[in-house]
Amino acid sequence: RRVLAVVLGDQLDREAPLLKKLDPARDAVWMAEVPGEAEAVWSHKVRIALFLSAMRHFRDDLAAWGMTVHYWALGEHPHPSLQATLAAELSASPPSVIRVTQPGEHRVLQALRATASAMGVPFEVWPDQHFLFGDDFFGSWATGRKALRMEHFYRTARRATGVLMEGDEPAGGHWNFDTENRKTFGRHGPPPVPTPSSFPPDAVTRQALKAVETHFPDHPGSLARFDWPVTPTQARSALAEFVAHRLPHFGAYQDAMWTGEPYLFHSRLSAALNLKLIPPREALSAAEAAYRNGLAPLASVEGFARQIMGWREYVRGLYWRNMPDWLDWNVLGAEAPLPAFYWTGDTAMACLQATIGQTLERAYAHHIQRLMVTGLFALLAGVQPRAVHEWYLAVYADAVEWVELPNTLGMSQYADGGLMASKPYVASGRYIQRMSNYCRNCPFEPGQTTGEGACPFTTLYWAFLDRHRERFAGQPRTALQWRNLQRLSASEVRAIRSEADRLLANLE
Ligand code: FAD
Ligand code: SF4
Repeated sequence: RRVLAVVLGDQLDREAPLLKKLDPARDAVWMAEVPGEAEAVWSHKVRIALFLSAMRHFRDDLAAWGMTVHYWALGEHPHPSLQATLAAELSASPPSVIRVTQPGEHRVLQALRATASAMGVPFEVWPDQHFLFGDDFFGSWATGRKALRMEHFYRTARRATGVLMEGDEPAGGHWNFDTENRKTFGRHGPPPVPTPSSFPPDAVTRQALKAVETHFPDHPGSLARFDWPVTPTQARSALAEFVAHRLPHFGAYQDAMWTGEPYLFHSRLSAALNLKLIPPREALSAAEAAYRNGLAPLASVEGFARQIMGWREYVRGLYWRNMPDWLDWNVLGAEAPLPAFYWTGDTAMACLQATIGQTLERAYAHHIQRLMVTGLFALLAGVQPRAVHEWYLAVYADAVEWVELPNTLGMSQYADGGLMASKPYVASGRYIQRMSNYCRNCPFEPGQTTGEGACPFTTLYWAFLDRHRERFAGQPRTALQWRNLQRLSASEVRAIRSEADRLLANLE
């Protein structure tokens, strides 16, 4: 039986069982660059370039190990989509079976399966062993639970792996250190931020950058600063740099933001993890070793482990459990279009200008910028969740649907009605004022709700509470926020409504 192993752009895992089982004398690997994958959403140039460069490096590695790789490069074939390219491959040299590691996107799995079926070739999906846990682990944890909360999943995961455990107890006696992990930079700004790892383009990457400029010249973003890790060796070096220099401050400042400091103490490892250049086990072991050797405080290491073995694994489990329905949920009935400034950064609101500007320049923003600046504004402004989802999937280097969609539609936009988050993440401009220095250089006043100079976040925050009064006012988790609304007089509420209407009508 001649096997054709399909390797997608986010499956660049040298340890994948699928590859280990291939017979180089008989079987082949199939990889394809297709315009449709860059255009399914209007992808940032950096996101496309990262995929192309990492795929081409992986192709060269496979060839160096003696594998036959059928590589369909952009511009060297006429096919627009994965389906059409795979169909062309199957017609040209039909295999006995197609094997693929479980794709990261529901749509892609359906497309590959349909193509194989139409061409009459047996199709096998192999589990993705890059992750810490398989579908069974999530399934048995989820079975019989009313609410699928991350914190419960995370504790089960800690017990199952023994990471940061002392026997049956969590290291340090606590499961989480949130109270130590929400520091701000105060008036004076961050402690010295280490110079980030940077991987200047080599010849393969330069070719990939050129291909992007040739085939996708109108796509958003800039390639001028492209310096992402594109090989496992580079990803390991980025991990080592993070653990040595940033991890000690990671926990304390993970929610803080500062103008001109895009990376702060974050790892910038998500893209390398999502393309499978480096396994999550390695990131966790390196962080845990730093704690055990006294090189990083427990609160920081726990905060990092929580992201990798908690959030990252949990959102993947939820994604496969709820797709494809999740895509269409919109329980808050949000129907506004995405403001055009999300694609340009051209707005007077300093927090949005900084976050979107940095996103277009670097295809990166850290979690709180995504959740509590761009995500929060879209939620408060009642933007259609699907449009928000398509933006997030397009503009970040690390964007792949299994992780982006739950974070956007679930955690950030509450479009799933609380499947993922127990309440909507809403706040006024005062939250951004506390966690950053953005408001200092903004024409608006974070504490002001109406009138000249009112902060749009603050106006829209109160308008959101008012709009969704019936849904949330009676729920124990949200009652406190909504109780504050009851304290406003009828004329104050009227003023907020008209200020919000005026604002939303003039968003551009
Ligand atoms: P760090 O802050 O250094 O965190 C370490 C690692 O933990 C990350 O590399 C990532 O792998 C993991 N992680 C952290 N937070 C989360 C989370 N909430 N869910 C899953 N994993 C997490 N992450 C993506 O990888 N791809 C996406 O497309 C994506 N879209 C998002 C959209 C929205 C609206 C929001 C609110 C978050 C999104 N995230 C996404 C999660 C998170 O913002 C990014 O993983 C993180 O900012 C990446 O930067 P970093 O590598 O420096 O992370
Ligand atoms: Fe953002 Fe409002 Fe602060 Fe301006 S005042 S930076 S709009 S939160």
